[in-house]
Amino acid sequence: MTRIGIIGSGFGAIAVAVELKRAGHTDLRLWERSDDLGGVWRDNTYPGAGCDVPSPLYSFSFEPNSQWTRRYALQKEIHAYIRSVADKHGVSPLVRFGAEVVAAAWDDDAAQWSVTFADQTVETVDVLVSAVGQLSRPRLPDIEGVESFGGTSFHSAEWDHSFDATGQRVAVVGAGASAVQFIPHLAKDAAELVVFQRSANYLMPKPDKPYTAFHRGLFKALPFSQRLERGGIWTIMEQFARGLDATSKVGRVNKAIAMRHLHRQVTDPTLRAKLTPDYPIGCKRILFSNEFYPALAQPNVDVVTRGITRVTPTGVVDDAGVEHEVDAIVYGTGFDSQDFLESIDITGANGQKLATQWTDGAHAYLGMYVPGFPNLFVTYGPNTNLGGGSIIYMLEAQARHMRQAVDRLEAGSYRSVAVTEEAEQAYDRELTQKLDDSVWGSCDNWYRHPSGRITSNWPGATLPFAKATKVLDPDAFTWA
Ligand code: NAP
Repeated sequence: MTRIGIIGSGFGAIAVAVELKRAGHTDLRLWERSDDLGGVWRDNTYPGAGCDVPSPLYSFSFEPNSQWTRRYALQKEIHAYIRSVADKHGVSPLVRFGAEVVAAAWDDDAAQWSVTFADQTVETVDVLVSAVGQLSRPRLPDIEGVESFGGTSFHSAEWDHSFDATGQRVAVVGAGASAVQFIPHLAKDAAELVVFQRSANYLMPKPDKPYTAFHRGLFKALPFSQRLERGGIWTIMEQFARGLDATSKVGRVNKAIAMRHLHRQVTDPTLRAKLTPDYPIGCKRILFSNEFYPALAQPNVDVVTRGITRVTPTGVVDDAGVEHEVDAIVYGTGFDSQDFLESIDITGANGQKLATQWTDGAHAYLGMYVPGFPNLFVTYGPNTNLGGGSIIYMLEAQARHMRQAVDRLEAGSYRSVAVTEEAEQAYDRELTQKLDDSVWGSCDNWYRHPSGRITSNWPGATLPFAKATKVLDPDAFTWA
């Protein structure tokens, strides 16, 4: 029986674990550095945290949830859903908590991975699956004085729930997907809220609605009805993802919707101008909210579009030299998305380091397999993030492909599998061409490595990825 170790316990890890378990690969263990499972849905507990992909689609195809309370579920409910799936499929007992992987080394003779943890203990497995995700390391901005601030300050992914914004002067740095969700909550309570917005985002209305007892009863009694909704949402999102280039018809329609939303919700021309993006739609993640613009239009809220020169013990200084004195600073400044597996010291065959292989940005065959790194499978790896659509759909496709790899290892009594250089390079050439034609090169975003390579996103809709990963091509790999 193949011994399989999975790093992480978020959606990606659970997808792989369930897929392998259902196929009879039961010698599984998951390592979680924290004390609970759930990945980003465990960590991001900021007020208003939720998913901007509708829940019938942002869930496993094999585990529809008839009991979502609303179309766009909030964090608590999504986290509970992950836990329930892990419990139902017997994955929860396989998770070892407080187990932070710091290094992994391939042993060619033994054909196994030696995995080292922060407490210096070591475990060995035949197959190592990384499911650490792309957004698990919060990033504070590289601004002078961040550490010197004397009031309360924290990152959105490490929300300080003892902090009460009532009557306080609060600064928010960032206006991305997370900030758009928590700013309306801060704006309600804070005496003054200063939002430092470096770039405006395209914001679309969010067609959210509560699911009534009738809906939930219907979904439960007739699961097909929920499948129908899932299918409808998927179809719309596929078109949305296809439209992520500035010149496409869908892109133009999306832009018109976003601009109409802005005009309807913000009447002040100065604020409107600040909130109008100056780059092609889709280059940064398109956001969805009905509450963000009205929150910014409140009299206690100020949107500062000037840059930040430094943080002082008492506030934030903008590049016009104005100091905005505040009691608290919340950083909605995103994640070290280009890190991929850099925080783990991974050594493959012949002593080669994954970090060295990825110096100019991460790349992998189908986003999952790296030449020279046998029996290493990466889920939510390079170029598998989406500009639009459900990442869970992508994770399931990856899990199915990895399961086929393990099936074949066992069926052929092979000890190792590694993608060939040729297969990875050919895949990468085609991918790079598509990425060159994408909209993501036309502005600053977290999808790009400093080398210029777009490392995060899959170009286009999700169906082509599901097709590309449906049947494992044995010739793309060396089986030994
Ligand atoms: P983000 O989208 O990367 O946004 C970071 C924000 O901080 C941006 O507004 C950025 O400005 C700003 N920023 C960064 N460094 C700065 C600096 N030195 N000075 C001033 N501003 C600075 O991060 P996020 O909002 O945490 O979201 C990250 C990703 O998580 C999203 O793209 C999405 O994939 C995921 N997410 C998803 C959901 C969901 O509903 N599905 C919700 C939250 C997050 P610039 O734009 O100018 O760089």
